Amino acid sequence: MGLSELKQLVEDLPGESALKREVHGAFQHIRRLKDEKTSLNESNQELLRQLSEERQRREDLNQRVQINRITGLPNHHRMASDMNELLSAFRGERDTHRGAIFFLRLDRSFQTMQSTMKPQMLEWILYQVSQRIQEIIGDNGTVYHSRENEFVIILTGNLSKREFSAFGSRLRAEVRRPHNLSGYNIHIDCHIGIAEFPQHGREKGRLLQNADIALQAAEERSVELVFFEEDLREQVVEKMELQNSILRALEQQAIVEIGKQFEIYYQPIINITEDPGESPMIRLEDGSGWRISDVGAEALIRWNHPNKGLIPPDRFIPLAEETGLIIPIGNWIIYNVSEQIRAWRDKGLELGPVSVNISPRQFHSETFVHSVRNAMANNRLSSESFRFEITETSIAQDPETMIKTMWELHDEGVYFYIDDFGTGYSSLSYVHQMPVKKIKIDKSFVFQLHEDKREQTIVRTIIAMAKELGLGLVAEGVEEKAHLSYLLQAGVRSFQGYYFSRPLQAAHFASFLEAKSYLPDE
Ligand code: C2E
Ligand code: MG
Ligand code: MG
Repeated sequence: MGLSELKQLVEDLPGESALKREVHGAFQHIRRLKDEKTSLNESNQELLRQLSEERQRREDLNQRVQINRITGLPNHHRMASDMNELLSAFRGERDTHRGAIFFLRLDRSFQTMQSTMKPQMLEWILYQVSQRIQEIIGDNGTVYHSRENEFVIILTGNLSKREFSAFGSRLRAEVRRPHNLSGYNIHIDCHIGIAEFPQHGREKGRLLQNADIALQAAEERSVELVFFEEDLREQVVEKMELQNSILRALEQQAIVEIGKQFEIYYQPIINITEDPGESPMIRLEDGSGWRISDVGAEALIRWNHPNKGLIPPDRFIPLAEETGLIIPIGNWIIYNVSEQIRAWRDKGLELGPVSVNISPRQFHSETFVHSVRNAMANNRLSSESFRFEITETSIAQDPETMIKTMWELHDEGVYFYIDDFGTGYSSLSYVHQMPVKKIKIDKSFVFQLHEDKREQTIVRTIIAMAKELGLGLVAEGVEEKAHLSYLLQAGVRSFQGYYFSRPLQAAHFASFLEAKSYLPDE
């Protein structure tokens, strides 16, 4: 029996009955439910329509989110999802298919453009670069515009390493080909890092990281392209670890914190006079006698890493330079050395000037001149207590800023030494514009002085040049008496090197000064 038959049956019952009323009520309820269902269906339809619109909107957005606005190339979001697909397909292929990921990053010339060009022009150049890359890649792979100055290219197909390399060279040559902009030729350059798969990784994160590591190596070595190798990973990871450690050491930039891990060593600089007097004597084989006028020092930083032990400055100073951390470290060094000189003076020690190495980046810091002034004032030191060492190479980087800051410091009475002389780009054309007192002959020339004619010629030329410019000389790396004899006879009067002493902890340096036995027992 259907519902309507049941309804009819109940309605046909004679008279009024409770059952009749109940059934009638039930049917009315059912009708209401039916009506509600119809209107629910209608609103469901509306909801579905809205949902599909929303889906479309999302797809459009997604499309936009996955496309670089300037070049129209797929961006890093798309690259990530494409790579997942690609690699899972490859996993099934068991090494029969090969491919490579190219990381291509535009070099500093692009950053210069960013600060000098109108945004539209920059966008136009990026667009041109992207077009050129795409033309070379063609159907062999996909190009992604992953970051503003970075493109990632995934090449598939069974190509050899040599073929990948040839691709890389063509890519770079195309990027370097001048870009014509309103009649001007704009030059831009790039470096490329390559990771091959499957051998450099079967998983997205690792492959991308390895290509990035290779790119960093190419940038550091200033070469066109570098293929990933495991050794590179170690170098980069070590670099990152060091960087993190420096950051941690400086986390609060509190001087006490830095002082816990960093320590300053002092290496004596022996200054010789020709005046007679009551001071220690150096006698050479030829019978000549020389007196020591005073002993200064060079302050040399050491890093006592909590896990890695003593880390030499050559390993972490360049990093600190790169990250800008050299500014707080450098300020700490100046303060620390000043306090130390004050403490030695108060103890009555006779001490010549102390040299402090200054990195080029410190010259660009607004706090630098200020910290020197403060450090001297707080410790009641005259400018004669200090010398600042700058390397020849650092002068060549930005002579104008350097010269300006040097004179500002010279207003406080500070003089400079030029360090590692003879190893960098010649800075001679600037030297006469700077408050320079002495040139330091690099240790690499001094080491072989007694046996190598070429080194002798270089050293003699440096000495003649310094005389011509009215500058004094310090020789570093004096390890043997033969070096000392040669240099003394050639006219050098200041010496630093293992022959006299290695760099010493502050307390040992004080003992060295107190003992006044500056010459090694022979
Ligand atoms: P530099 O300024 O040329 O310092 C001289 C380097 O030669 C020191 O190395 C010193 O230990 C070493 N040396 C001196 N005499 C001899 C010798 O007879 N034989 C040999 N084999 N080596 C000798 P160190 O302390 O490892 O420093 C290396 C470089 O790190 C320094 O070269 C300097 O450029 C940089 N550096 C060190 N301390 C600081 C610092 O406080 N600030 C900055 N910015 N750089 C620093
Ligand atoms: Mg030095
Ligand atoms: Mg040096």
